[in-house]
Amino acid sequence: MTMRLRFAPSPTGYLHIGGARTALHNWLLTRKNNGVFLLRIEDTDRKRSKPEFEEQILRDMAWLGLDWDEGPTKGGEYGPYRQTERQGRYCTYVDAMLANGTAYRCICSKERLIAVREAAQAKGLKPKYDGHCRNLNLGPDCGEHVVRFKAPLTGETVVADLVKGDVSFNNEELDDLIIQRSDGTPTYNFVVVIDDHEMAVTHVVRGDDHLNNTPKQQMLYEALGFPVPQFAHLPIILGNDGGKMSKRHGDTSVGAYRDKGFLPEALFNYLTRLGWACGDMEHFSADEAIAAFGLDGIAKAGAKWDMDKLSWLNQQWIIGLDTADLAQRVKPYFEAAGIATDDRLETVVATVQARAKTLIELVAASAFYFVDDADLEWNDGAIKKFLKPTTGPLLRDLTDALEAAPEWTEDALEPIVKGFCESKEVGLGKVAQPIRVSMTGQKTGPGLYEMLVAAGKPMALRRMRAGADRCPPLEG
Ligand code: GLU
Repeated sequence: MTMRLRFAPSPTGYLHIGGARTALHNWLLTRKNNGVFLLRIEDTDRKRSKPEFEEQILRDMAWLGLDWDEGPTKGGEYGPYRQTERQGRYCTYVDAMLANGTAYRCICSKERLIAVREAAQAKGLKPKYDGHCRNLNLGPDCGEHVVRFKAPLTGETVVADLVKGDVSFNNEELDDLIIQRSDGTPTYNFVVVIDDHEMAVTHVVRGDDHLNNTPKQQMLYEALGFPVPQFAHLPIILGNDGGKMSKRHGDTSVGAYRDKGFLPEALFNYLTRLGWACGDMEHFSADEAIAAFGLDGIAKAGAKWDMDKLSWLNQQWIIGLDTADLAQRVKPYFEAAGIATDDRLETVVATVQARAKTLIELVAASAFYFVDDADLEWNDGAIKKFLKPTTGPLLRDLTDALEAAPEWTEDALEPIVKGFCESKEVGLGKVAQPIRVSMTGQKTGPGLYEMLVAAGKPMALRRMRAGADRCPPLEG
């Protein structure tokens, strides 16, 4: 039997890292088992659902490299894949349940329900519908009503979870769930069951914040005579203080990580390992993840978000990219920072590639190559420390020597600088740091020769001379 898995986001906000991890684990499991991965948009909350959120979710999934076989923009034989486009289907199942006696009409007023709840609470009991209409056999002409599921009153419902093992729920604690509101719209737990059944989903893999919904859904499967899919609940994502990961711990949307200059491969890589143990495998490709992935490695306990590890992984991925690719990827970040780049970009990124943890850091570290000389940010400490009165003449002479270089390559520049130092009987440091400060305005920067080459001859000569001019004059 073909495995069919789904990701079912509600377009009521951005793609959350927890949602992305759920999508990713579903995707990995599907690809590993040559199954089908479908995307269903759960947009029944009309007030909070917005088309732009759906667009962003789709975009962020695509950015992460998660493609779907069926779903919006793709189609498929089990569509439509948006719940708002499936409304008509749900009523048929409500009618079937009313007909077979697993659902009933309930005319209890809001006031009555509040009174029932308060009475239960006063007795220290869990608030629960008291079953007033359960056996009244109310017909369609009973007036304003909801439809409730006639849940079993005794016994227990055991969810055979592929991650957590058997999880038992006492049926006495479960309510007679409303499956259709008085305005005729079906409710969340009900439509999820209908959709998963109609879309032939074999495995429901989702965050464990949904675990409490599962017994209700399982009962509905049974009442409707549907085969129950396999369930697997993924561990919650925790912030560094052990609480549920939220904005106070850091960024929670996939888009924020993209904006901060994380590579999709790195986030994919990090999210894959979040709550999934696989020996010491840390830095891996999507294909390697597919080969190694399995629900048996999923942790039962919460998974801690570790920003340092994500940054480290991002750096590894940045280092591993070829420079042409890196240049393409960093370009939009320069644009966003209002810095115009030019055809030196690929050579430039190679000089800072090993030092940047994010693409934003890469932009910051290489901005000096692209800003106008007049806009260079000068660090006073660097000027004081490295642009001394004796430095001026040295820099000026060296610049003249470099200007005569036969070609502007590292191989050509290195012997000129070294020969110059020997002839002046000064150490390399006496010129290397002043050149770096002149080029960047800062104490730190890329390696000397690669920086000069990446900057290009005109800029290098110009900035070195300007650096020399900044040195205080020699006395006397
Ligand atoms: N739409 C639900 C959510 O976004 C997911 C429901 C499910 O996976 O069953 O949390």
